Amino acid sequence: MSGHDRKRDPEAPRADDQPGNFVAELVEQELAQGALPRRLMTRFPPEPNGYLHIGHAKSIALNFGLATLSKDGVCNLRFDDTNPETESTEFVESIQNDVRWLGFDWGERLYYASDYFDQLYAWAEQLIAKGLAYVDVRSEEAIREARGDFHRPGVAGPERDRSPEENLALFRKMRDGGFEEGEAVLRAKIDLASKDVKLRDPLMYRIKKVPHHRTGTKWCIYPMYDWAHGQSDAIEGVTHSICTLEFVNHHALYDWFLAALEIPEPPRQIEFGKLNLSYTVLSKRRLQRLVNEGHVRGWDDPRLATLAGLRRRGYPAEAIVAFCERIGVSRNDGVVDIGLLEHEVREHLNAHAPRRMGVVRPLKVVLENYPEGQVEQVELANHPMDPSMGTRTVPFSRELWIERDDWMDEPPKQWFRLGPGREVRLRGAAIVRCTEVVRDADGVVQELRCHWDPESKGGNAADGRKVKGTIHWLSATHAAPCEMRLYERLFADENPNAAEPDFLAALNPESLEITQGFVEPSLKDAAAGARVQLERLGYFVLDTHDSRPEHLVLNRTIGLKDGWAKIAAKL
Ligand code: ATP
Ligand code: MG
Repeated sequence: MSGHDRKRDPEAPRADDQPGNFVAELVEQELAQGALPRRLMTRFPPEPNGYLHIGHAKSIALNFGLATLSKDGVCNLRFDDTNPETESTEFVESIQNDVRWLGFDWGERLYYASDYFDQLYAWAEQLIAKGLAYVDVRSEEAIREARGDFHRPGVAGPERDRSPEENLALFRKMRDGGFEEGEAVLRAKIDLASKDVKLRDPLMYRIKKVPHHRTGTKWCIYPMYDWAHGQSDAIEGVTHSICTLEFVNHHALYDWFLAALEIPEPPRQIEFGKLNLSYTVLSKRRLQRLVNEGHVRGWDDPRLATLAGLRRRGYPAEAIVAFCERIGVSRNDGVVDIGLLEHEVREHLNAHAPRRMGVVRPLKVVLENYPEGQVEQVELANHPMDPSMGTRTVPFSRELWIERDDWMDEPPKQWFRLGPGREVRLRGAAIVRCTEVVRDADGVVQELRCHWDPESKGGNAADGRKVKGTIHWLSATHAAPCEMRLYERLFADENPNAAEPDFLAALNPESLEITQGFVEPSLKDAAAGARVQLERLGYFVLDTHDSRPEHLVLNRTIGLKDGWAKIAAKL
């Protein structure tokens, strides 16, 4: 684990503690020295076979960020769509949507590796003509076996010595459908004894009689990642091809292909440490299982670290980008504390989310001496620090909802909320004292009867007596009923990836709790996706899929720091 990615106390990030970005430093140096052969160009190259996750956000922020280091720098969005079996336009669209949502703009620079299939094919024929590629008609398994491994050099088969003419004819036969799947592949002729196993005559093309979401049935041979990637970079004029560390062992092959094609001033591959987050899985394969096996409600389930999921959860794009900047870019893989992401989310929402009142687990309060039918409007600030966000009025009446957690039967001294005979302030409205507790047959509290202090308008006692606690409330006759989806982390284990027998064993069975609560009536007019702070509860967002004015659905984005929980833990 690198020093950069080591866990820190997320509540105390210091500006001078910012980890660096070695790629940006390198590019800045090259720019300063005038060392670039052409204008600075990066690319973000997703494979359209799944939804983007927060790891991809790191790559997006890095690539688009690098492009801004130079006045004429650019970043391409390129779909690496070389495997028709797993790819679809659904994913192409969701990826574009997510990149745009993060706030990055590729302008006209939208490309597809499949646009280069003709050029890649022509280049493959060139390598065959040079004696640098050949068709192998053995099964992929036989080829793998003959390739050897770290301890055993590869063994050449007879096809390695076929003439370029024979190979050309066979390759064209492959292209024209003369072979079935698995009957032939094109391989680069490099070095079967190389210590770098990737260089032992790697596959360039394989046969797949599968239509492609963009090229239809035009092709039945498809380029392998290694053959497509560097060449696509070269076609576009990419200067820096940034990828994650698992591609270190593809690096020599990346360079070999470009050299074999005699590409002048070839692009350069640079590897960085990918993002891993505690309490989170990011691999597409695992995300797929969570979705397909029904552990979550789809790719945009608010518990997933997909960008679609985080968005639906209420995470602001700005917070995600700020997080990516804060964690830096290093040459090592590491695990970042999810608390750091949550910190950025709270920071942003604290500054930008208007305040509202809501009740997650309602408990009825009746103010015995408050006139029936009387309603007053209480004016409250939308933000305690930002007067520009204005005020709103909230109706107050005889019957109220308060939070069940704000009541305790036998409270200790440090408890400043409601208890038998105790006084509490209803935020901005009045002071009330609990005079009677109504219970059901099992002793469960059904309702509190309280005495309202008519002299305590605005919540301040006329006689100057101190009331320490302030709780939130809603008028029961006016409040809007609301489904509250209370999310916790999807995994209970800090490192679900290491769980036995697999990551599913680390699932948190309590990652979603649904309650029937209430919110201020004004939220009926709020747009889907609107984010608010429900005072004393946390940040919430109106669910973009399911919330309707007549049936509000709120997702809890993240809780506030709960002061009482800290005290209770010490008691
Ligand atoms: P996964 O490993 O999650 O299945 P992937 O690498 O197969 O993802 P791609 O669509 O190929 O997904 O990724 C597009 C780009 O995003 C690549 O350059 C890849 O290196 C980068 N990327 C993927 N995961 C991460 C991560 N966790 N941190 C940083 N960059 C990542
Ligand atoms: Mg990949």
